[in-house]
Amino acid sequence: MSDDTLLDRALIRLEEAANHLKIDQDVIEKLKYPRETTKTRLLIRMDDGSRKSFLAWRCRYDDTRGPTKGGIRFHPDSTVEEVETLAFWMTFKCAVMNLPYGGGKGAVRVDPHQLSKSELERLSRAYVQAFANIIGPDRDIPAPDVYTNAMIMGWMSDEYNQITGEVSPAVITGKPIALGGSLGRNDATARGGFYLVRNLAAELGLDKDHTVAIQGFGNAGQYYARLSAADGNSVVAVSDSAGAIYRPGGLDVEKLIAGKEAGRRVADMASELGAKVISADELLSVEVDLLVPAALEDMITKDNAGTVKAKVVLELANGPVTPDGDKILNEKGVIVLPDILANAGGVTVSYFEWVQNRQGYYWDLEEIHARLLKIVEREGRAIWDIAQSRKVSVRSAAYIHALGRLANAIEAHGTQPFFAG
Ligand code: NAD
Repeated sequence: MSDDTLLDRALIRLEEAANHLKIDQDVIEKLKYPRETTKTRLLIRMDDGSRKSFLAWRCRYDDTRGPTKGGIRFHPDSTVEEVETLAFWMTFKCAVMNLPYGGGKGAVRVDPHQLSKSELERLSRAYVQAFANIIGPDRDIPAPDVYTNAMIMGWMSDEYNQITGEVSPAVITGKPIALGGSLGRNDATARGGFYLVRNLAAELGLDKDHTVAIQGFGNAGQYYARLSAADGNSVVAVSDSAGAIYRPGGLDVEKLIAGKEAGRRVADMASELGAKVISADELLSVEVDLLVPAALEDMITKDNAGTVKAKVVLELANGPVTPDGDKILNEKGVIVLPDILANAGGVTVSYFEWVQNRQGYYWDLEEIHARLLKIVEREGRAIWDIAQSRKVSVRSAAYIHALGRLANAIEAHGTQPFFAG
């Protein structure tokens, strides 16, 4: 077992990409470390009258290309290292899509399922009270992530407005529509991945009716299942944190989503869907064309990557494949569409929300979809072409693409040769 941290492993991508570009060493020095990470404890009153404190962080990794942008995660296993790594990925993701943002991220170490709704509201508001000087529409713009949602963003936005005495909806994205949220934000992550796969289908060797397995049946996974099934593909296996199911002839996606909405687990619906219960690891090795990890990081590792039978992996989750796992997938000829491209539809529609908030004029759903499609197809194609021309993986190509943009911005501030000259 290596002592490398999640961030060390993420930084391998930066070094790899740098080998392909002629960039100043200052650029690497700047991108190797987070610019600022703030840690605090949120002390809230519980419903039983006691007080409880929770560790919380906000990281602004790099703001060279614009205000930092990134979600807030509520999770019992959150660590500072995870927050900084996610913020690093956000820096590259925003550059991949050419959004005028840097990268950030936040988290609270909490199991939100153990809190009542009013405790959750107090915790969300406490987060904004603690970080009110760090966030801001031109400084650092949070959004939802794992176990946070539009309702929480609504509370946070309201708290920020109360603190500043102004109405600044652009301070946070992923808000409810009634508070300035954007149409199309709910399924944006999945839709971005779906547009990408559809646009590159011929190059990826995916037929019009390909089969799909989805790990993690939450926001990203459910919407992907719906979009893909509606386009004529067959979703044959899905999992959540409690188990997995498989039906070679295809699952009834709408029934599954209705069951999840009613609070059920996928494995509990197996018999009524005519599906077989399988183990979490078996889901990865199911005979499918496309495997979609949409749960958490580090799910496909050196221990199970060898069992993957899919032609293509679409990383809707952030960091689901470890570098060791990635190497094995590459050697097997599995094409991995990397997280910083595959799930960037979410931050792209968050950007649309921020733009609409600032201009005070709101687009209809058609316009949102058309704008998202244009960006995903443009950047996806550019990255595919880099992968072909440089004979590198799509992941390396995405990092090369993003690093080129980051380097341009950093070098424009003046780098070593400029000052030495
Ligand atoms: P979510 O909380 O809605 O869903 C996560 C799902 O994963 C749940 O169904 C959970 O049961 C399942 N899960 C957890 N552990 C699992 C395990 N070991 N095996 C199988 N399933 C497991 O979260 P989400 O918003 O869909 O996010 C999922 C991933 O996508 C995360 O990595 C997140 O960072 C990434 N992502 C989400 C968005 C977004 O807009 N929602 C944007 C970009 C990236």
